Amino acid sequence: MAATMESVSCRKCDAQLAKQEFIEKNHRVCPECNHHHFMSAFERLELLVDDGSFESHDDGLYSLDPLEFPDYVEKLERDAAKTGLKSELLAGIAKVGGHPVAIAIGDVGFIGGTCGSVMGEKVTRCIERATEQELPLIIVSVSGGMRMQEGTLALMQMAKTAATCVKHSEAGLFFISVLTDPTFGGATASFSSLGHVIVAEPGARIGFAGPLAIASIREKLPDNFQTAEFLLEHGLLDRIVHRSEMRSLLINLLEFSAP
Ligand SMILES: [Zn+2]
Repeated sequence: MAATMESVSCRKCDAQLAKQEFIEKNHRVCPECNHHHFMSAFERLELLVDDGSFESHDDGLYSLDPLEFPDYVEKLERDAAKTGLKSELLAGIAKVGGHPVAIAIGDVGFIGGTCGSVMGEKVTRCIERATEQELPLIIVSVSGGMRMQEGTLALMQMAKTAATCVKHSEAGLFFISVLTDPTFGGATASFSSLGHVIVAEPGARIGFAGPLAIASIREKLPDNFQTAEFLLEHGLLDRIVHRSEMRSLLINLLEFSAP
């Protein structure tokens, strides 16, 4: 049957799904095959935090073009218009099940969620805010790796965010890292992997170097290589959580860790 204006196709099983139900009721998870589709930072925020509790911080920060990289400014402007964000990350203070938290949520629609200097700076400030206000921290990662258009300025965000995570942890504060599809590169190699509890959505692709890069230096990779399921099996994740259950898991963890 041809798709109508009101239906969408599952990217994995090709099922035709009623668009409104797919977005509002199923939160972009296919009811036929359970594939978790991409979701915007604003949609995730609505799914995870208490209504009306979010106070956005640093939302005026945006990337410059320090290397004068071809087409970079145009891509930044295009994706800002598409996502309603000025950068690849939403960050602030919110409540989850009544618990105040510092929270940061990536948006894959903003240059693939790649981590540039603004993502690094916003993550760092979010963690510092959590430390100053003695709040638990939740970071929902989605990242296509570090942003090549910003070169070393992007790469240095790994050390900066990781060092800030350590200070938050040394203050005895709790960090839940939520990994979503895809989480790659420098994010995986820094703040995304430093949660005290690390959970992921089903089927999320998570890794450092991408599978094509690794396949070029090794003959054969396991079928489910760099998936949440593979990482859970190898001890790199604590749990895989269906999107519809993520908020209640966060609330349980926050209650468990509350002083
Ligand atoms: Zn499907």
